[in-house]
Amino acid sequence: MRYTNSHLEDWIENLYRKIDITEPEQINFERIAESLDIRLSFKPVTSFALKHSGIYNICLDSRKSRIEQWYDFAHEFCHIYRHEGDKKTMPTTWTDYLEWQSNYFTYHFCIPTFMLRNINLSYIHSHAIENVAWLFKVSPSFAKKRLSIYYRKLTQQLFSQTVTENLCTPLL
Ligand SMILES: [Zn+2]
Repeated sequence: MRYTNSHLEDWIENLYRKIDITEPEQINFERIAESLDIRLSFKPVTSFALKHSGIYNICLDSRKSRIEQWYDFAHEFCHIYRHEGDKKTMPTTWTDYLEWQSNYFTYHFCIPTFMLRNINLSYIHSHAIENVAWLFKVSPSFAKKRLSIYYRKLTQQLFSQTVTENLCTPLL
């Protein structure tokens, strides 16, 4: 079936292709940081990101597991790459929105659609979840949520495609 990428999905695909990451096993936050000149550090504090003298820094919580650090990396990455400068001057509701957006971004960044589409997903849902979690090195609950976003979009597209096709059928 035809799948139309959102701007976000295009953006993530272009970014990964630019740094030669096209397979799930190549995804690695040290590699991403190095390719994009992001300074990475680990400290026993809540993960954060900042830009200092033109250099992006992401500090990850050293108390967290590697998987959780990867989610944090994606979340902070969204703030510095997509929200830069927005935060300080905006009202709280906007900050909440940016937080929500970074969380949503994390699902797309950790499991990019263009890679997901290359996988033969099992029609048995639990198998599909396990497989995706294993391939992308994320937790099963994360994979489950990501797949629900993916399936929802597929269903919506199938629906709108059917509607469009029916509308385009000449009335005889
Ligand atoms: Zn945040």
